[in-house]
Amino acid sequence: MKNMRTQIGIVGAGPAGLVLSHLLHLEGIESVVIENRSRQYVEERVRAGVLEQGTVDMMVETGVGERLKREGLVHYGVNLRFSRRTHHINFAELAGGQGITIYAQHEVIKDLSNARLAAGGQIFYEVEDVSVDNFEPHSSSKPSIRFRKDGEPYELTSDFIAGCDGFHGICRPSIPSGVLEVFERVYPFAWLGILAEAPPSSEELIYAYHERGFALLSMRSPTISRLYIQCSPEEDILNWPDARIWEELHRRLATDDGWKLTEGPVTQKGITPMRSFVIEPMQYGKMFLAGDAAHIVPPTGAKGLNLAVADVRVLARAFSEFYKSGRTHLLEEYSRTCLRRVWKVQRFSWWMTSMLHLFEGDNAFDQRRQLAELDYVTGSRAASQSLAENYVGLPMDWGS
Ligand SMILES: Cc1cc2nc3c(=O)[nH]c(=O)nc-3n(C[C@H](O)[C@H](O)[C@H](O)COP(=O)(O)OP(=O)(O)OC[C@H]3O[C@@H](n4cnc5c(N)ncnc54)[C@H](O)[C@@H]3O)c2cc1C
Repeated sequence: MKNMRTQIGIVGAGPAGLVLSHLLHLEGIESVVIENRSRQYVEERVRAGVLEQGTVDMMVETGVGERLKREGLVHYGVNLRFSRRTHHINFAELAGGQGITIYAQHEVIKDLSNARLAAGGQIFYEVEDVSVDNFEPHSSSKPSIRFRKDGEPYELTSDFIAGCDGFHGICRPSIPSGVLEVFERVYPFAWLGILAEAPPSSEELIYAYHERGFALLSMRSPTISRLYIQCSPEEDILNWPDARIWEELHRRLATDDGWKLTEGPVTQKGITPMRSFVIEPMQYGKMFLAGDAAHIVPPTGAKGLNLAVADVRVLARAFSEFYKSGRTHLLEEYSRTCLRRVWKVQRFSWWMTSMLHLFEGDNAFDQRRQLAELDYVTGSRAASQSLAENYVGLPMDWGS
């Protein structure tokens, strides 16, 4: 068994784990990151792409935002499309000049892993059989992470463990049953998403409500479109040849003003189930959960990555306070602080999802109600402002 020691042992090299490791490094705190996938896999995994203003500011201020500033597409609004008409929500006017930046999650990951490795940070990729121990409140030993790398067993002991290993990771299930309370809603639909080599057909995102189901036009760069349609969670992707997906997108995004959807070769496609999920608390003893390990939002609000970043900003500050002064009050408050933001983001993501999707069992009344809500949101300055304020991201200190 090879033994290693660090201050913070981090499980998972997704956005939460890498941002945490980066922020800790800037505070002079040592960490080691353990990741079960290869570096190439995590750097190519296509996922989120909408960064809140606060996430962008954090990356720029901490020295990992150079490429993001150069290549990211800054948007000062989104479009809501229904009844074949498009309505613009203007963030510049409604959200104090703030915007969002389109920059793919895997590019964020590349920038962060490059920065960590260039600074001498340790990330162990392609590890196996990861387990966490001795983090329980009354454990007399130091917390430890055990794993295998190239067949060899390792034990990493640390002062604390950060469980940043996503929804399917091992950290959350390692907490004894009965400790965590689970709050969950599984939606009766999924998103079928494609990545296409086609210039985006709109400068800004289009969220479309349609009697055949929701559609979203998004993008990853000036040459790559990201498009989604609502589908059944049981849908088999094999039943969706590219031509059928484009046909459905054309139908759901159609307008009366001559707008055209540009097609292009589909380079990736997949089906993502939709769920809202929160555990409380987000800490047990010396293990702190952050990001998707602690909560999931449906992607309609574009919040998952941003929420993961918000959690680890709180956590990094709490660790920093502990190592500087020995005081534990911020660590003790970690869960409460994060959950205030988590629940507001859950509410917003649920609201966007409920307003824009068709629900099985809904009748004509419900559809008229959804249309009235869209009409209200796009017609009332107060309602548009509420959407804008949430979409660009609530201020970080709201949770404090
Ligand atoms: C299709 C799709 C679209 C999305 N769109 C958006 C969007 O537009 N905006 C947005 O903000 N969010 C979006 N999200 C959500 C966003 O991608 C996630 O919320 C985000 O990745 C969470 O980051 P994380 O670091 O908490 O978890 P993850 O990114 O899941 O990272 C966890 C890491 O832990 C690793 N791991 C897992 N188990 C172990 C183990 N046992 N040992 C070691 N390592 C382990 C995983 O390989 C992974 O690298 C989207 C998600 C999907 C799937």
